[in-house]
Amino acid sequence: MRIATSNPFVGLEAIVQENHRLADHTWYRIGGPARYFIQPQSVEQLQEAVRRCNEFEISTYILGLGANILVPDEGINGAVFVLQEEAFRKIRIDKNILLAGAGVDMQKLLLRCVRSGLAGIECLAGIPGTIGGGLRMNAGGKYGDIGSVVSSVTVMDQSGEVYDYTKDELVFDYRSTNITAKFILSASLELEEEDPEELMRRTKEIWMFKRNTQPLSTKSCGCIFKNPRGLSAGALIDQAGLKGMRVGGAEVSSKHANFVIAHGGASAADVLKLIKLVREKVYDKSQIVLENEVIIWP
Ligand SMILES: Cc1cc2nc3c(=O)[nH]c(=O)nc-3n(C[C@H](O)[C@H](O)[C@H](O)COP(=O)(O)OP(=O)(O)OC[C@H]3O[C@@H](n4cnc5c(N)ncnc54)[C@H](O)[C@@H]3O)c2cc1C
Repeated sequence: MRIATSNPFVGLEAIVQENHRLADHTWYRIGGPARYFIQPQSVEQLQEAVRRCNEFEISTYILGLGANILVPDEGINGAVFVLQEEAFRKIRIDKNILLAGAGVDMQKLLLRCVRSGLAGIECLAGIPGTIGGGLRMNAGGKYGDIGSVVSSVTVMDQSGEVYDYTKDELVFDYRSTNITAKFILSASLELEEEDPEELMRRTKEIWMFKRNTQPLSTKSCGCIFKNPRGLSAGALIDQAGLKGMRVGGAEVSSKHANFVIAHGGASAADVLKLIKLVREKVYDKSQIVLENEVIIWP
């Protein structure tokens, strides 16, 4: 980062906070501050703030609900963008086509769809996050994933150019997508009309399954590791006898071994050390290298 002789964000002070605590914005509730924390109120403000970052060589990051991110204890020496203002939380429904801004909360959207009798995203029940984070991660599980109902995505790249990915250009894979642009702005989803009561029943069933199998009320980031092809990371961790293993305030969940939960006082360093240890022990036991699902910043 270039040492700024003047404030890089002159004129944008209303949307930029300096040395802002990121722990309050992550599901883990751990991690240090962001040098700049930016909440644009429009695409134009986002473009201008990103232009300043480019000019002053400030690294950019984008945060949704922080449900899949581990922020280091020393924080982020860069600009962290959050698209939570009104302009990025719009929802428009036209028959079975739904347009949702990147900052829309996936659980609230799911509830709205269920009540409107629109089927297709029940697989998101119990998965915390925003549409932006959900698309980046192709959120989902054994009941399906968000990518399968996406018909287009509007994005902005680091140069500020806004453009669309159409359905035939998009590839959604296991917890990944081919979207390379840094900022996802909105998406349109193609849903199917269905009886709201039946939809609610199915959504509750999926939510109950998650609640019964995952430690949803603890601080975590969901699954730490991706499942290796045809295998379960949780089962591999369990077979290595690691349930309940602790480093400082971080612990391998006894309910679901692929969750590392953070108890009060846990640091990001504790979580990182435990992740490393789990990976090593699983390798020793089964010669399989587990790949992170959690996004570790920077
Ligand atoms: C209790 C719990 C249970 C979970 N269960 C599941 C599950 O069953 N299935 C599953 O898939 N996940 C699960 N997760 C993980 C998490 O909910 C998902 O990955 C979710 O999609 C993260 O969304 P987010 O908005 O919080 O993104 P963040 O965690 O904030 O970010 C995740 C990634 O997306 C990027 N990103 C965020 N917003 C944007 C944007 N607008 N444009 C471009 N990139 C962006 C970030 O930079 C980062 O790389 C769980 C997490 C928790 C805490």
